[in-house]
Amino acid sequence: MSWDRRTAKQQAAAQASALRSQVVHAVGPFSPFWRDRLKALGRTAAQVSTRSALATLPAVGERDVCADGDPSGAAALVLQAGESGWALHAEGPRLRRAMASRVLRPGSYRSVVEADTRPTSYVFAGLGLRWPVASTRSDLDVVARAGARLWQVLGLTRDDVLVSALPLLPTAALQALQLGAMGAGSPAVFPGHTAADVAAVLQLVPATVLVLPAGDAATVLEDLDEAGAALATVRTVLLVGAPSEQERADVADALDRVGVTATVLAVHAPDGHRLLWGECPAGGNGFHTYPDLELVELVDPETGEAAAGPGELVLTQLGLRGSALLRWRTGDVAAAVETTPCPGCGRTVPRVVGVRRGALVPVLALRSGSRGVDLRAVAAALVGRADLTDWRVMVGPSPRDGADEVLLHVTPQDGQDPTDVVVAVARDVRDAAGLLPTQVVVADAGGLPAGPGLSRRLLRR
Ligand SMILES: [Zn+2]
Repeated sequence: MSWDRRTAKQQAAAQASALRSQVVHAVGPFSPFWRDRLKALGRTAAQVSTRSALATLPAVGERDVCADGDPSGAAALVLQAGESGWALHAEGPRLRRAMASRVLRPGSYRSVVEADTRPTSYVFAGLGLRWPVASTRSDLDVVARAGARLWQVLGLTRDDVLVSALPLLPTAALQALQLGAMGAGSPAVFPGHTAADVAAVLQLVPATVLVLPAGDAATVLEDLDEAGAALATVRTVLLVGAPSEQERADVADALDRVGVTATVLAVHAPDGHRLLWGECPAGGNGFHTYPDLELVELVDPETGEAAAGPGELVLTQLGLRGSALLRWRTGDVAAAVETTPCPGCGRTVPRVVGVRRGALVPVLALRSGSRGVDLRAVAAALVGRADLTDWRVMVGPSPRDGADEVLLHVTPQDGQDPTDVVVAVARDVRDAAGLLPTQVVVADAGGLPAGPGLSRRLLRR
């Protein structure tokens, strides 16, 4: 049965076995971060190797791994297996193959072990900070194979020719597109993001797929048109990074203006992940995931507890070594994870709908400068406090001068001195999130702001 048409039962069985092997044979023994964390929680890897048991582990994100925003903490995510450790924990069939070749061809044993254990390639991730994500040789194979699947989901074939206008940065999305094109057998050119360079490539290569960054796709498209780029053969525009409705509408307008008729499809790699998800050409059915390579959940962004949705997208990677992520908080907010067959293409894989990329770590133009503010860390300093009955966090531009602000509205418990509460809250938020709130406002229970937001208490102006 192909990867995308399995029944729920077949899918669950494949996922359960991949999860067990990832947790018991890879992450548990070889990830310094998870080894320490499991020990602190008093659990063994085997005890958390089923889906329901794994869900009892607290989800973690970049600030849990990189304390005080120090990116070197991310090294503790990288699996560290020597040859002897690998032989102790490798799965049976793989170990038997390697042991057989150890006798016959010693060099080949080493290469089997190293392909599985030695980080050889890095991309960078991070919302509030920038940290490296390591891949082994076998991880890159997984990324390439997932890329071949991505082509199927997007409705592309090896006859498609891809030209990218993405900046040449070491990101997971760029690496996944490069390896994916290779895995799918499509010609692909990545000349960088300078309009003249992309236009020059388009003169030489009749592209059927144009790759644009979701955030400023409309502008890039118009710059390309102005640079005289040959866009007439483009049939598909890929927007990288979970575009908002507004960004999609802007691209549709820009395509109209430059006179190109193309299907606009989104692809997205959540922060920390190495696989790109795509949507099928029917449109509107969300990102199609790879259930044998990842486990996708939603949690309440305020508390990290499991949530039906909307909630923060949390990922467990299966079959990826290098920097292996268990219950990783991506900072994306999603409306839901749908498990019914896709109404567009009939694939049975889980689909993530309504993704707002990096919504929980918005880049704010504060008066003190522009920076990513981790609202999960702000919430962590407020959840469950004995001195508050309730609170709200409001971020967004000030009506006075348009600069972004982080406002905390708090209702102190009866008998608490409001001034003491304001001081304590501001200090704890600074310690947890590395930033002082613009203002802490004391409000009655009925006077707390309401409105559209990322969760019940995290609001956007
Ligand atoms: Zn579909």
